[in-house]
Amino acid sequence: MIPDKVSLDLALFLPIYGWLLLIIWARYVFMAGIVHKSLWRPDATVRTGSALTGRAPGAAAMWREAKTSIGVSLIYALPAAVLFFLFEQGGTALTREIGGLGDLFWQPVALILYLVLHDTYFYWTHRAMHHPRLYKATHHTHHMSKQPTAWASFCFSPAEALIGAVIVPALAFVIPIHVATFLLLLSLMTFSAVMNHAGVEVWPRRFLDGPIGRHLITARHHNLHHTKFQRNFGLYFRWWDRLMGTDSLEGDPVSEAGRDKMAVRVPANAPL
Ligand SMILES: [Zn+2]
Ligand SMILES: [Zn+2]
Repeated sequence: MIPDKVSLDLALFLPIYGWLLLIIWARYVFMAGIVHKSLWRPDATVRTGSALTGRAPGAAAMWREAKTSIGVSLIYALPAAVLFFLFEQGGTALTREIGGLGDLFWQPVALILYLVLHDTYFYWTHRAMHHPRLYKATHHTHHMSKQPTAWASFCFSPAEALIGAVIVPALAFVIPIHVATFLLLLSLMTFSAVMNHAGVEVWPRRFLDGPIGRHLITARHHNLHHTKFQRNFGLYFRWWDRLMGTDSLEGDPVSEAGRDKMAVRVPANAPL
C-alpha cells in the first residue's frame, strides 16, 4: 500500500537513489566479474562446465555490454528507489520484522511467488518486445549480443530497462515480504541473469534433465534465445515457454553432446 501522506522530499529521495545505484553497480560488476573470471580462462577455454559457444568472449563486445549495463542502471535504480522512499514513510508491503512462525514460513512462499509472477511478467513483455513494431525501440540493444557474456546480463535499452525494472518494486506494494527476503530476491535475480548470459552451462546434464532442472531456465536455455532468437522467452522457469510452444533446446551443445568439456580454442580477441 501507499502511505496516506507522502512527503516529496528530494533530500530524502536522492540519498536513497544514490545508495541503490551504487549497490546495483557494485553487485553487477562484482557478480559479472567473478562469474566471467571463474568460468573462462585467459586462453579462452572454460574452467568448468560446458561451453555453449565455439567463440571466446571478445573484449570489445564485453566492454559494450558493460558500458550499456552501467548506464541503464540509472533507470534500474529508479523504481526501487521509489519503493524504498515510500517504505521509509511507512508505506509498501515490505516489512521490517518477522511477527511469528507464520511470518517466517511465509518468507519462502513469498520468494517463490515473486519469482513466478516476475517470470510471467517477463515472458509476456519479452514476447511483446519481439514484435517487429516494438523490437527496435525496446529489445534490439539486448540482442546485439549474438553470443552474450556475463556482462550482457543488464545490457538493455532505456525503454526495456524501465519495463523490466518496475515489476518487482510494484509487487512489493501488494505482496508482504520481509526486506531481507526482498534483498535476497534482488540478488538472486542478478545472479541468475549473470549466469544465464555467461556462455557456459555449469549444471551437470543429470540435474538439467532431472525433476527440478527440467523446469528451470539456465544458461543453455537462454543462450539459445540469443543465438536462435524466436524461442525460449522465459526468465526463471520453462513453464510459459512449454505452454505457449516456444520452448526448444534444439541445437544445444549440452543436450546433444552431454557434459563433455568443449575446449574452445580461439583467440581471446576474436569478435563475437
Ligand atoms: Zn529477446
Ligand atoms: Zn539475454
